[in-house]
Amino acid sequence: MFHMRELISANRKEIASLLSAEHGKVLSDALGEVARGLENVEFACGVANLMKGGYSEQASTGVDVYSIKQPLGVVAGITPFNFPAMVPMWMFANALACGNTFILKPSEKDPSASMFLAELLKQAGLPDGCFNVVNGDKEAVDRILDHPDIAAVSFVGSTPIAKYIYETGTRNGKRVQALGGAKNHMLVLPDADLDMAADAAVSAAYGSAGERCMAISVVLAIDSVADALVDKIRARIPAIKVGPASEPDNEMGPLITGEHRDKVAGYVGGAEAEGATLVVDGRTDAPGGGFFLKPSLIDNAKPGMRCYDEEIFGPVLTVTRISDYDEGLRLINDNQYGNGTAIFTRDGGVARQFEFDVQVGMVGVNVPVPVPVSYYSFGGWKASLFGDQHMYGPDGINFFTRTKVVTSRWPDPRTSSVDLGFPQNR
Ligand code: NAD
Repeated sequence: MFHMRELISANRKEIASLLSAEHGKVLSDALGEVARGLENVEFACGVANLMKGGYSEQASTGVDVYSIKQPLGVVAGITPFNFPAMVPMWMFANALACGNTFILKPSEKDPSASMFLAELLKQAGLPDGCFNVVNGDKEAVDRILDHPDIAAVSFVGSTPIAKYIYETGTRNGKRVQALGGAKNHMLVLPDADLDMAADAAVSAAYGSAGERCMAISVVLAIDSVADALVDKIRARIPAIKVGPASEPDNEMGPLITGEHRDKVAGYVGGAEAEGATLVVDGRTDAPGGGFFLKPSLIDNAKPGMRCYDEEIFGPVLTVTRISDYDEGLRLINDNQYGNGTAIFTRDGGVARQFEFDVQVGMVGVNVPVPVPVSYYSFGGWKASLFGDQHMYGPDGINFFTRTKVVTSRWPDPRTSSVDLGFPQNR
């Protein structure tokens, strides 16, 4: 793992360039992805400490009890298109460090980073066969889910597929963690710093062209500040430079496919017919020669509208106007997803109450994209995660190991002619 850490760090620009060329995300975004993935390799370097079990001396007379963590054997990871380097690192770093062998099935849309990481693992000295990349789509996934020798499956992707992976894998006796989609709400209270909130909403909604499971896709604005907040967001949008990652000034690249671009554009086109207000239409003046959309802003979105209810997974931010904190909290808790959320306020008491009340796995206080650092674990609630263990961090170590408890008694050398006692100083 230490060698792997050095190699990823030395090759970070090359990995980022691969991501930009294949996925389309701009270089600064790709470098950020590599850095966040690398954190997980660094965490796994501490595995000797993380695999320690418990020990109870003299649990009964002459009896000691202790627990040990052991690897599961062959485990697999199935990953989405949007973080082709980071999400594999979320999984394989801990899985390998715990002593498992790993099969990675990357997204068929951008598998090159996985192939490159496999090369680096080989250079780092990992024996052949310990890390394997299997390319393909549903057929390869189904073979993994059916294969009797695979003990566990870690999945990240959309909610319908996550549910399918969880149900099929567990039916086949495997341990499964399956992370799904999201619809992350940002609640802005009247006492918030509105410029900070507008900067955060724009960065979190349109970064990575909105193709992030932790993107903010809904701003919940209390009526008294909603007009001002919408104005501030609208004012920031024209400055965002959209275009190919090959031009270093660009801040937002294309969407992953033409089909996905058209689907996202469909939500923008349908918003007004649903009763929402299209404030900025990102379909106009989008650069040609790729699957580009510019940022869109939709105001007055409400539950029951497709643009509010469904995961869009593109550069579209909707605003829902609410009368108070309780209405905002209710909307977040009623949503089918529970991946991430954020509150913007200067009131510590309200923020603390929000942390307590909200039915979401990852919460930001004046932080719009609260992806946990690698020594915590990443995971949503509700339809954003199927399974018990969250991804990476301490939960990742638990997911890729199983615990054995040993109860042990040794013959007392004073009562036995055979001395099986521990070596001791006499
Ligand atoms: P996806 O569900 O289409 O694909 C994910 C993986 O599943 C890929 O490897 C793909 O080959 C495989 N797959 C696709 N269809 C399948 C099928 N019918 N049967 C078996 N396997 C199948 O997701 P995507 O489009 O690659 O990624 C975007 C989605 O991932 C979004 O919904 C996003 O929110 C989610 N996501 C979630 C997280 C998280 O941590 N919760 C992180 C990143 C992305």
